[in-house]
Amino acid sequence: MPYKLKELQREAGRRHYWRHREKRLEASKLWHAAHPRVSKRITLAEKFFRHVHINVQTGCWEWRGKRGGDRKSYAYFKHEYRSQRAHLVAWRMFRGEWPEARQADHLCCNTLCVNPFHLEPVTQAENNQRAVERRRAKKLEHV
Ligand SMILES: [Zn+2]
Repeated sequence: MPYKLKELQREAGRRHYWRHREKRLEASKLWHAAHPRVSKRITLAEKFFRHVHINVQTGCWEWRGKRGGDRKSYAYFKHEYRSQRAHLVAWRMFRGEWPEARQADHLCCNTLCVNPFHLEPVTQAENNQRAVERRRAKKLEHV
């Protein structure tokens, strides 16, 4: 093939490319509008609240997801590839970092509640003290 012809063909190809560029872009836009990409990523809150039932009477966020721990009475939530205490995940979502070396005291006495506003970080001693007090109060109720 003579050099000149090759050059002409290349030139024609280039012109073709530019002439139909707009049309191609338009077609591509239409195709993408008709086939929207659905993101499979969901937010942490969405994932979390799938397992939560909000009790309107008590304001407790009752956990309907995985349970674990002592007598399976604690809420567990798998996040970042590990199972975590669900109420701590909720605390971090709404109230920031959980204080070091503190236990969670459920002010509503419902261990399956994951409402971070029903929790109070207490030391182990405080927690034990409160448990004793609550037991005593319960006994008095029954008398
Ligand atoms: Zn509660």
